[in-house]
Amino acid sequence: MPEPIFQPLPDKPDHPALEREMLAQWGAEGTFAKLREQNRGGPSFSFMDGPITANGPAGVHHGLGRTLKDVFQRYKASRGHELRYQNGFDSQGLHVEVQVEKALGFNSKHEIEEYGLARFARDCRDFVAKFAGIQTVQSKRLGMWMDWGNDYFTFSDTNIEYIWRFLKAVQEKGWLYKGHNATQWCPRCGTSLSKHEQAGEENYEEIEHPSLFVRFPLRGREGQSLVIWTTTPWTLPANVAAAVKPDAEYGRNDVGEWVAVARYPEEHFEEKVRGEDLVGLEYEGPFDYFAAQEGVVHRVIPWDEVSLEEGTGIVHIAPGAGAEDFELSRVYDLPVLTPIDEAGRMLPGYGELQDKTTEEVVDPVIESLRDRHLLVEATSIVHRYPVCWRCRTPLVFRVVDDWFISAAEIRQPMLDGNATVEWTPPQYKKRMDDWLRNMGDWNISRRRFFGLPLPFYECECGRLNVIGSRAELEERAVFGLDQLEELHRPWIDGVRIRCEDCGAEVERVSEVGDAWLDAGIVHFSTLGWKNPEWIPGGYATGASRGLSGADLPDHAYWEKWFPADWVSEGRAQIRLWFYSQCFMAIALDGREPYGRVLTYENVVDETGREMHKSWGNAIDLDDALERMGADVMRWVYCSQNPAQELRFGYGMAEDVKRRFLTFWNSVKFLVDYANVQGFRPAWRELQPEGELVALDRWLVERTNAFVLAAEADYEAYETVAVMREFEAYVDDLSNWYIRRSRRRFWGDDEAALRTLWYAVVQALRVLAPILPFVTDRLWRSLVLDGPESVHLAGWPKVGEPDHVLLDEIAEVRRVVELGRQARSSSGIKLRQPLRRLVVEGARLDGHLEEVADELRVKAVELGTVEAVELRVKPNLPVLGPKLGRELGAVRAALAAGEFEELPGGRFSVLGRELEPDEVLVERGGREGWAVASGDGVVVALDLGLDDELVLEGEAYELIHGVNSLRKEQGFELTERIILSVPEALRGLVDRHGDWIAREVLATSIDVGEQLEIRKS
Ligand SMILES: [Zn+2]
Ligand SMILES: [Zn+2]
Repeated sequence: MPEPIFQPLPDKPDHPALEREMLAQWGAEGTFAKLREQNRGGPSFSFMDGPITANGPAGVHHGLGRTLKDVFQRYKASRGHELRYQNGFDSQGLHVEVQVEKALGFNSKHEIEEYGLARFARDCRDFVAKFAGIQTVQSKRLGMWMDWGNDYFTFSDTNIEYIWRFLKAVQEKGWLYKGHNATQWCPRCGTSLSKHEQAGEENYEEIEHPSLFVRFPLRGREGQSLVIWTTTPWTLPANVAAAVKPDAEYGRNDVGEWVAVARYPEEHFEEKVRGEDLVGLEYEGPFDYFAAQEGVVHRVIPWDEVSLEEGTGIVHIAPGAGAEDFELSRVYDLPVLTPIDEAGRMLPGYGELQDKTTEEVVDPVIESLRDRHLLVEATSIVHRYPVCWRCRTPLVFRVVDDWFISAAEIRQPMLDGNATVEWTPPQYKKRMDDWLRNMGDWNISRRRFFGLPLPFYECECGRLNVIGSRAELEERAVFGLDQLEELHRPWIDGVRIRCEDCGAEVERVSEVGDAWLDAGIVHFSTLGWKNPEWIPGGYATGASRGLSGADLPDHAYWEKWFPADWVSEGRAQIRLWFYSQCFMAIALDGREPYGRVLTYENVVDETGREMHKSWGNAIDLDDALERMGADVMRWVYCSQNPAQELRFGYGMAEDVKRRFLTFWNSVKFLVDYANVQGFRPAWRELQPEGELVALDRWLVERTNAFVLAAEADYEAYETVAVMREFEAYVDDLSNWYIRRSRRRFWGDDEAALRTLWYAVVQALRVLAPILPFVTDRLWRSLVLDGPESVHLAGWPKVGEPDHVLLDEIAEVRRVVELGRQARSSSGIKLRQPLRRLVVEGARLDGHLEEVADELRVKAVELGTVEAVELRVKPNLPVLGPKLGRELGAVRAALAAGEFEELPGGRFSVLGRELEPDEVLVERGGREGWAVASGDGVVVALDLGLDDELVLEGEAYELIHGVNSLRKEQGFELTERIILSVPEALRGLVDRHGDWIAREVLATSIDVGEQLEIRKS
């Protein structure tokens, strides 16, 4: 036998091993560099990477996002596009700080201050460097092709400077302000949190809190009191008012307690009044003996929002400890008492409660109220309560000064911008609109350390100085420049500038910025917006020095690459990154920063549960890569609808491997027979021509149809559709073309080999973006003189396929499928030949023989299937509610056969029409027939057997048995054998010996003791 032309394939792929080999080969050959070189100067496709937070190893949910980014970059590259491939790391802000604190064992800001801000900043940088390195290794292993080493890090000085530019621009527009604001506050992180950070469902937990009913004695009304309800005892010492619903009815019971009547419908009231009649009454506060309460006059105020769904209908108001309370304080000019500090501990002025946390004050508050006969009842309640998105600590409200950017003027331009964006899946566009319509002003300040330093310098003269660049800082600095290692705290805090109005020396405010500023600016900072000159290595400044070699391009480059053609992140980013990048781009340039978005839901386990380490169902990305392989993971991700939660697990991986094996086996079949026949294809003659039989022509057309369908799916950013097309294609390839052509491969039929080679090679090119490893491995086995890698082969160019031919074969396959169904319902073995099949409702011109052969029947007839007995029953869950009492009559009419079948699966009965989903249809064969139907086609299989058919069935059984033996005993595909059969089969051999010998490659058949084969 000649040297094999194609590298033989194992029976099944070892995905992880194969992938490691391919990674090594890509590295050695510089495949990615060659691809970039090949596409240089091609039409640009601008993808902007949303930065991954470098605060831990990547998880399987990151695997999803990274896969999708890689798939579409690879697809666009296969179309000849030039891409940037810049990866981004999100590298400062709360997500990094909290992890570093954990690593250091800290649990408060105070500990960081003692440790030293410079050391802490260095630790944060090292921490980011470590995980950026780990994430890079993981991403490469997943097959992600990026310009690794030239990543952007959001903590670079360049990135910071670009945000400064943005902040200066919004100040010039008059949008920047400092607000005295009630804000959600994390006592552990010691900072306020913005609405967009906290908005997700996941940022709520079921938490048990105290539930207190408390009396507020009314002044001047002896023996009467208001009763209020609260779940936050720590806010009672800051109470200043009680709110009633003005148009609701309130009643006083026999012990003098006022509550809303609607809340206590069973109660007997001595007196009833409207809420507005209580407004203006004064009462004794629950903690008037605290110094903080000195001079506060407590009174009843009206508030339309008072709920009559919970509590007593009278709401205790503490403007320093609640958002709505704070709003009311503005309307009614109420004093604002702020009871807790940054760490959530009671401030001086609150007596024995001072320094206690909001939890620690619960018992003393209850005791004090009870001692003074103000407590009605103290129990507990479990309710949904917001927790810190970063550290899961329950939040409190504080009134503080924060920096805001007003959303008022930009809201409409952002909505207009979103109207130009194409979203996949499309329904997310409306989610973005909803967010934009409802977004509040952007709270950009955080009271933290390792984040974007806000370049705000407030002067006593009233001037707010905003620095827009490092150059401006240097120009206006009074001192501190010499120690400015980078633009982070503590170094930036050592620089003082001169006030541009009064010339006084001013220091920076202590706050840092929201991390979404960092990620939102990258369309400007990484592309060199308004940068006059290209600076090699110029992006990698400050903390990112040494971590990245990225250039700072010039403005012409920005013009070329902005706006991005495409971005892709998870759905939660609608209120985070998608929002912040739009906000910043529209503020700076007036344009939307991206044209298309692909977004997706979260990853859950294969049973649909969220993954949690503590539940034991979490999967490490590294484990998945090693146990499943990257291609299998990518298949799992890409074959699901991104608008639903995406499932992921080892069971699904096994299923994918099994499905992929059909394709692998087809390729292996080609390789094995091509090697036997010495078939050597030429890349320049890819398209099969010449001696093609009808089936070959069909496969060429079918392949071209697959290429075009997949192209449309990729263009629509729908991997799930690509995978669906691929599976249907593989079914046609394997279960029709190869099945129907098998014999031709045994002979020397080059047309069959060439056609199959064409099909497989084109399929590999289509699939390469999704399964980059195994496709390239197979490519290298099959393509001997073409591009060295499938990734350098480009997208296949094919003509419009012959749809008439495709429809024709699709119909043939449908009939065959129905024939199989009929056979399996009859219980007769597939190998047993039958007399005839009657087909109704399908055109099978020229394919009768194929159908007969496939279904092993002697004849196929087109005609009316008389054998059908149609049984129609009501689908009760659907039809029952619709018909009500009429159901009985309809059911009886259906049972009696008093109905008419209408086109499209509908039925007419008793003058009404029933839809396909309202009925259950069974088609039974008459005695001796098996029937199946679907899509308007009905087939009936004659089940009658005679001696001749039975004998033929036995011959097929024997052929099957011998071929199994050949495999078991390791005979080569073309090796000849001598066959011995037992005496009982003598008659069979006499009748069908030649045929059997041909099928099992026997040179002779003799009758002996038992069934055996040996070398001829
Ligand atoms: Zn927190
Ligand atoms: Zn000044």
